[in-house]
Amino acid sequence: MNGRRTLTSLWTTVFGCTVAFTSMNLPTESASATSARSAAKQSREATFKKAQVLREEGVALLDDQQFEQAKAKFEEALALHADSDGLNSDLHQRMAEVCLDTESYQEGVKQCELALQFNPSSWVTMHALSRLYAELGDLDQAMSWAQKGQQVAEQPEDRLYVRTSIQGDVAKKCEPLLKKGEFTKAQQLLTQAKSFDPSDSAAWVHACLAGTYLRQGDPGKAMIENQIALKMQANNTMALMNAAECFAYLGQFSEALTWAKKALEEDLDPGERESVQNLIDEMKPILAAPALNDPKAPDYLQSTAAPVEGSVCPWPPDKMPLKVFIEPASAVPGYRDSFRQVLLDSLEAWAKASGGRVSYELCSDPKQANITCRWVSSPEELECTDAGHAQGFTVCPWQADKSGRAFVTGPATIRLLTRPLPGRQVLTDSQIKVVCLHEVGHRLGISPHSPLVTDIMGYNSLLDTPDPKLTARDTNTLIRLYTNTQNK
Ligand SMILES: [Zn+2]
Repeated sequence: MNGRRTLTSLWTTVFGCTVAFTSMNLPTESASATSARSAAKQSREATFKKAQVLREEGVALLDDQQFEQAKAKFEEALALHADSDGLNSDLHQRMAEVCLDTESYQEGVKQCELALQFNPSSWVTMHALSRLYAELGDLDQAMSWAQKGQQVAEQPEDRLYVRTSIQGDVAKKCEPLLKKGEFTKAQQLLTQAKSFDPSDSAAWVHACLAGTYLRQGDPGKAMIENQIALKMQANNTMALMNAAECFAYLGQFSEALTWAKKALEEDLDPGERESVQNLIDEMKPILAAPALNDPKAPDYLQSTAAPVEGSVCPWPPDKMPLKVFIEPASAVPGYRDSFRQVLLDSLEAWAKASGGRVSYELCSDPKQANITCRWVSSPEELECTDAGHAQGFTVCPWQADKSGRAFVTGPATIRLLTRPLPGRQVLTDSQIKVVCLHEVGHRLGISPHSPLVTDIMGYNSLLDTPDPKLTARDTNTLIRLYTNTQNK
């Protein structure tokens, strides 16, 4: 309990808890000493009462969201130097509250530190520090103070309040990280935030965490976290959207559709609604022809997912090895030397997967090239209709021969964007690898998209797959494309 230093016994309420001021047994003293002591006592009591009044006025102003006026009252009260740790701690705590509301977070931290000097075990102050550090973007500190706060809070509802608050803060701060593609950082913070389970925000933490796994192409792990989220909150919008995507990633499109519809019944923001609707639209051609889009089939050569213009056709055998010209790009903004190696690795990966059916050689004369690879720095230069959403684009003329079989006639161009997509901060080598593998796949004649986004030729590219590789279905599709031709 606070306020030991006053001489008389009085009760007062300092931020919600009743504080006892105990009397002390003092030795007998002279009349003049007694009188001086009594005057000092009265003066201290008067100061305390004055500070109390100012504090109450400040609290009323704070409740009324008159932050500057409230701050002035608290400052005035603090300047009185009332002899009460409880009151002074509360005043600094209130100042921190003002700082939180007025976005003066650094100043708020200072006020909390002062409050803790008067009352080192206040969970309210620790909670305020946690909120302030969260706003400052230091989630490690925020979680550390929340941890301390919930350790000292005595009431279960106070502990729940601290946990709910920190989990809400972490989820809120991780959502933009997810959008920016900073999955490793988000994953680490959200995994740490799980230690505050259970709370009223825990579903968001698990749903966000599921989102990080999903974006990186791991629907299995995503599903586990997402089921925890849905168990905690059956109508959590992020978890509902995740569920739809998880099932789509796993090739369970009917289930995916069911969850997407459930998500649409909730209050989604326009961007979320659009992405759920996109998913439904993307699944329509897949659901319309389940036999051609069997996710368990060894290949996807006849898939109807995200149909593209053109025909499913290979290069004729007499064009092998394909002559590939890679345009010099050192002057293209955003280009890095590593991009060239990633592109070469991608060509090599497909050639190897073809088991000798596809071969290529680099050439230095663009006029001789069957395939030209061009690095561009603006979405418009991709010359595709989906500019702004696409990281690469490829065009290729084709023709049917006399027997009606389609063949690529070339020359073909692959255009690759050197800049991150809107909203993204960086374009990593592994993201460029996903794009290169996908576009080279198209240029070798795989025009259908796989109904599984976990395949390199998926109807949506999982840009953030940590170690992008051709899947068995990618390989099988290429082999069947070239085997069919040679067998005919
Ligand atoms: Zn594509």
